[in-house]
Amino acid sequence: MADDWDERFGWAWDLISEDPTRRDAAHLRLDGLRVTRAAAGTRQEHEEASRRLLPDGLWIGSGPGLARLPRAVRYRLLYLDWEVRFPHEWAWHAKSWPTKKSLLRTFHQRVDELPDWIRTVLADLVLLVAARPHRLGDERYARLARVLADDRLRDGLRELGEHADEGVRLRAGYLTWVVGKRILPEPKPCQWRDYLQELGLVEEPAERSPAILPLVREGRVPTLVRCPRCAGPAEAGCPTPDDNRQVWRVTCVHCPYTAARRPEFLHGNRRDGSEVHDPVFRLPLWLQQPCASGRLWAYGPGHLDAIEQHLRARVRLADGGAYLPTYQVDLPDWMMPLDRRDELLAGIAALRATVPIATAAR
Ligand SMILES: [Zn+2]
Repeated sequence: MADDWDERFGWAWDLISEDPTRRDAAHLRLDGLRVTRAAAGTRQEHEEASRRLLPDGLWIGSGPGLARLPRAVRYRLLYLDWEVRFPHEWAWHAKSWPTKKSLLRTFHQRVDELPDWIRTVLADLVLLVAARPHRLGDERYARLARVLADDRLRDGLRELGEHADEGVRLRAGYLTWVVGKRILPEPKPCQWRDYLQELGLVEEPAERSPAILPLVREGRVPTLVRCPRCAGPAEAGCPTPDDNRQVWRVTCVHCPYTAARRPEFLHGNRRDGSEVHDPVFRLPLWLQQPCASGRLWAYGPGHLDAIEQHLRARVRLADGGAYLPTYQVDLPDWMMPLDRRDELLAGIAALRATVPIATAAR
């Protein structure tokens, strides 16, 4: 098959551009391709669109052997790089945990055939991963670190071991430990947990509060919205979440406004900093405000607490919970830089001050 990788995916480098406008354009292109594929009338049209989609097209037009296909490898590394640098955008536009894991497994298994440039890119990814909160499948980077182990990687980890953030220092410490001890079994999420336990840093599971987002989605905890009548705070939720025929109700805290609706279709929100709405009534969320370069928002005080807990956590859900998607509070990428934390915590405190007393008391 012809080597048409650049023609198919040359645009995809914009996915990791520092310029948000270029990234946006690349996202639109990707979303457009997905629409084209969904509308494909023939099998051939479907395949043609798949060839240009991420991650689908990464597997098309290549046989085994990594070194013989440098372009294919470049774009597979780009897909991993994208997940590391812009995890939320990746999750929004082209998420595939199996692809992430399988790419990392392939690089791990064939490490002996990798030319130096690929080893360098992978080692850089390991260091970037150590410097960000844990995500699903990251244990495979720990496995890679063991087989890549060279002086450059060790130096990089040593440097991260002196990072200002404790979470980064701990992850670097863990990677240094697994790299240094070849006798250890292959890294798994539970090994990271054991490592932290030895340092006395793991919370007991009993202390962990239940994941907040599923409770919000089921209407078991109220979502605070802006009342369409008096613009004050109103509570939306489902009084009978266990019934088959769920009905949601919104009730204003200040005026007699009330409304009911069956949640037939849960609407999502754009992540572009514009106003955020609840998924059932489409009323603006009460807890939201522009913050840093994005919009800080929460469904209710419990969600706000979870976000704050996540931002303050010494090891950012390092108790292993971060490996379970239900425990992630789904923070957008712009919230991740550590130097933004104080600004975010101040924004959270300002929002919390607007929670009506009756809601806060529950
Ligand atoms: Zn009202």
